Amino acid sequence: MYGIFVIETKNYKGWITGNEKGEYWTQNIYGNKHQFKNPIRQNYGHKKALEALFDEPVRFIPIVAFSTEADLKVHIEKEHVIYIKNIVKCIKQLSVDKCYDMDQVRVMKHVIEKNQLKEKQERKDHITNTRKNIKLTNEKIKGNICPRCGGTLVLRKGKYGTFYGCSNYPKCRYTINSKNLK
Ligand SMILES: [Zn+2]
Repeated sequence: MYGIFVIETKNYKGWITGNEKGEYWTQNIYGNKHQFKNPIRQNYGHKKALEALFDEPVRFIPIVAFSTEADLKVHIEKEHVIYIKNIVKCIKQLSVDKCYDMDQVRVMKHVIEKNQLKEKQERKDHITNTRKNIKLTNEKIKGNICPRCGGTLVLRKGKYGTFYGCSNYPKCRYTINSKNLK
């Protein structure tokens, strides 16, 4: 194997302009311009994240690939920014010096897959925690407890009707529409 190809694909239409260093690139569809993050930089971030998984340096080969819906008008010298249809050709061209044997490839594959599992679990945990927090907040509000500071929620009259505010006002500015308490 020749290294790990890190491929960022984009399905943008229109003219695409940009360069290697800029923070943003521009998509132009009949004069309608829209900026997006420089995908070379974005892919560099992915490469960095992968790099961090390995104890030893690994050869990464980043490629940015656009669908043929896009008309690439970018000024790129060193990096690989291509059309998705040319991806196999590009990978073949870049596969020049073999630097890993199959055992090493298996180890790398294992490292990446292990991390994918870990990230999947973290996403799951994050969703569970968010749900728990929302439930807890709702329970506090139902019990007239300020979810922000633990004070008491009291009914107040404002310009636009009644609302519940925290008894620790003005230290705590938590409010909730009284309709939302029903
Ligand atoms: Zn409060």
